Amino acid sequence: MVIITYYERLAAMNKAHLWLPFTQMKDYNKLDPLIIERGQGVKLYDIQGRSYYDGFSSVWLNVHGHNVPELNQAITDQLERVAHSTLLGMANVPAIELAEKLVRITPKGLNKVFYSDSGATGVEIAIKMAFQYWHNRGVHEKKTFITMKQAYHGDTIGAVSVGAIPLYHDVFRPMLFPTETIPYPYAYRHKGGAAGAMESTLTALRNLLETRGDEIAALIVEPIVQGAAGMIIMPPGCLREMALLCRKHQVLLIADEVATGFGRTGAMFACDLEGVSPDLMVVGKGLTGGYLPVAATLATDEIYDAFYADYQEQKTFFHGHSFTGNPLGCAVALASLRRIEEQDMLTGVIAKASLVEQKLMALKERPHVGEIRQKGLMIGIELVRDKTSREPYDWEDRIGVRAAERARELGMLTRPLGNVVVFIPPLASTEDELNAMTDILAASIVDVTENGITI
Ligand SMILES: *Cc1c(COP(=O)(O)O)cnc(C)c1O
Repeated sequence: MVIITYYERLAAMNKAHLWLPFTQMKDYNKLDPLIIERGQGVKLYDIQGRSYYDGFSSVWLNVHGHNVPELNQAITDQLERVAHSTLLGMANVPAIELAEKLVRITPKGLNKVFYSDSGATGVEIAIKMAFQYWHNRGVHEKKTFITMKQAYHGDTIGAVSVGAIPLYHDVFRPMLFPTETIPYPYAYRHKGGAAGAMESTLTALRNLLETRGDEIAALIVEPIVQGAAGMIIMPPGCLREMALLCRKHQVLLIADEVATGFGRTGAMFACDLEGVSPDLMVVGKGLTGGYLPVAATLATDEIYDAFYADYQEQKTFFHGHSFTGNPLGCAVALASLRRIEEQDMLTGVIAKASLVEQKLMALKERPHVGEIRQKGLMIGIELVRDKTSREPYDWEDRIGVRAAERARELGMLTRPLGNVVVFIPPLASTEDELNAMTDILAASIVDVTENGITI
């Protein structure tokens, strides 16, 4: 008699029916699938009982760890009142309270909150608001958006239109609206280093605004850290200069803080690092502590007022989603934000970031570690075939994937971005946990780049 385990049964159903995002299923189906059953603190447990550090915060979401009693309770309490009720033409209690809270903690000027359910939808909303803002004001020429090379803003068609990662986006190009693209300052791969990279970016932006400013509705930017591109970090002052240029040329600034928001960079928002107040700001991912799908697009009064009119004027923003302002999600977001404040987590992130920086110092000297980029607890390690010439690994080498697979064997989950190994631990990780995680991170990189360990 053949005994089929619970794991084998689930794995077979998984391979038969589940289609995973950003995953080549042919590769996936060759391996025994990882099936997560539960989480506790900064660890996830698979159904075979193995534990893993969540070294990428479940794709950059998690703030307080998993299965946190206080967050669970916030959801349960709300659940006993109502799980969902629409925001179309009416409100609910946690959605109001969270909106007030978000306005208080975001850069000044952002006074209105429009909810959705993912970073991508939050970006769609920002783009549509920017477009209709100019329309409602009778400025019909301003229709074009500026984005940055290697930008990632989510996977819906509007968000992909302002995206610029060829591997993800090129296939859809014929169905996207056209944009203007300027370089993101990528110091490591710019011959002029940080100063040269910043100059290239600002010059490109200045030229575009001076020649075509009248046609530009908005610039969308991942402030300070360009996440999916490989954790690329702006030289200091660059974001501020970009914001000033936009203001000067009457172009709206959309800050996509989906990855950087809620303490990840050591400030509440990356914009705070340079005192920048965007016209529109998108938040998601860590908003609910990584618990439930809630996102928000914040707007200034000036933008809101351009939509505020007698109904016959047809200035209404006709956009919404079934689960916009979901009460369970808003309730847990409120609990998460309370916890961030009560535990003074921003100060904690700064201390933890310097611990991680020290721990990774030795790794910097390894022959295939090109650059370690870090802002707060957002870390990307770019692996190179040749350190002196900075020659990258070929994509066929799948060096990032191999490092992540090795890390998983050693007990930590993460997901690479090309040749960049990502380390984005939950903000609540303790010193001991960060020590253990950075040890695994370093060992997995050395193993695949130097010890020839193949998985
Ligand atoms: C993840 C991410 C998004 C998309 O968010 P989803 O919730 O996955 O739709 C948008 N912008 C940035 C900067 C992101 O990192």
